[in-house]
Amino acid sequence: MENTFCLRCNREIQSGQKSVAVYLFAQTVGVRPRQKSSAQRISFCPQCSVSLAMGPPPEGALNIAAWQMIRDLVGADPSLNQAAWEALNGVVNALPATGTDGATRQGNAGYFEF
Ligand SMILES: [Zn+2]
Repeated sequence: MENTFCLRCNREIQSGQKSVAVYLFAQTVGVRPRQKSSAQRISFCPQCSVSLAMGPPPEGALNIAAWQMIRDLVGADPSLNQAAWEALNGVVNALPATGTDGATRQGNAGYFEF
């Protein structure tokens, strides 16, 4: 399988890794013979999926349609949020045993603007 990259942050998404894929194709309606474009797959890593879903609606009708689909997926199950959280924290086992964030984290860690 070819490597895919997150459309938003360009992070490489390896096969089997959690991500959101948006498939896009166009076809003619009411025209014979019917024409159909090739399908494109657009991928988002878990972090960007969650960030997009939690964020405000984007500009543009097509972007809003994709945003609503991603919100559906992210809102339906916490596994993408979990994957994003794990990526943010590194390997879970590497977390400090105290379970606290420690003093190194600063400021408004809840929101990232890419
Ligand atoms: Zn990303």
